[in-house]
Amino acid sequence: MGFEGKTPGSEGFTEATSDLSAEKCSLCGNTFSRNMMLQFGEKWICAQCKPNYLQMLQQGISTSGQMRYGGFWIRGGARIIDAIILQVINYIVTFALALVFAFKTPSRPDEFGIFFIIQMCVALSLGIFYEVWFLGKYRATPGKMICGLSVVRPDGSGISYMRAFGRHLATTLSALILCIGYIMAGFDSEKRTLHDRICDTRVIRK
Ligand SMILES: [Zn+2]
Repeated sequence: MGFEGKTPGSEGFTEATSDLSAEKCSLCGNTFSRNMMLQFGEKWICAQCKPNYLQMLQQGISTSGQMRYGGFWIRGGARIIDAIILQVINYIVTFALALVFAFKTPSRPDEFGIFFIIQMCVALSLGIFYEVWFLGKYRATPGKMICGLSVVRPDGSGISYMRAFGRHLATTLSALILCIGYIMAGFDSEKRTLHDRICDTRVIRK
């Protein structure tokens, strides 16, 4: 859907053509001359940020230009909820797999090993699919949704499936180094973890 037509919240936009003095964009912070920008109330938005700004208005995200970042504890809570959900899914899938193996394959000594490898691959794929699909489509995993968190780009737009996948890999790195990658969020002004820094993402609060 484009924003060319009548969009809720776009009524306040007025095109400024006469005043040539420069103004700072409320969203990206870059300075442009006023005739290149759109005014919304007291805020000035550059042409590049306009689609994102309209989207933020529609989704009710704070448009103050000052994002509210999700900190270490709330993000940890979201991770725990996601881990519980994934574990439940894993139990169900493993149970279904076990049933298939019990009925379909003849009893062989190596059967349990094959079952174990397949089960591990399925669990690994589920973990990747869960995070990449939810982040790419909804900007948040169920755990993050419950905690009111979204994963976005610095300009407030959503992340692509590719970036979500890269972020998933970077998350593994954050965990591998004794979770130092996660703890970094507590010492960053934008609450960025290592994987946020690598993938240029931010976790914001609604
Ligand atoms: Zn801008």
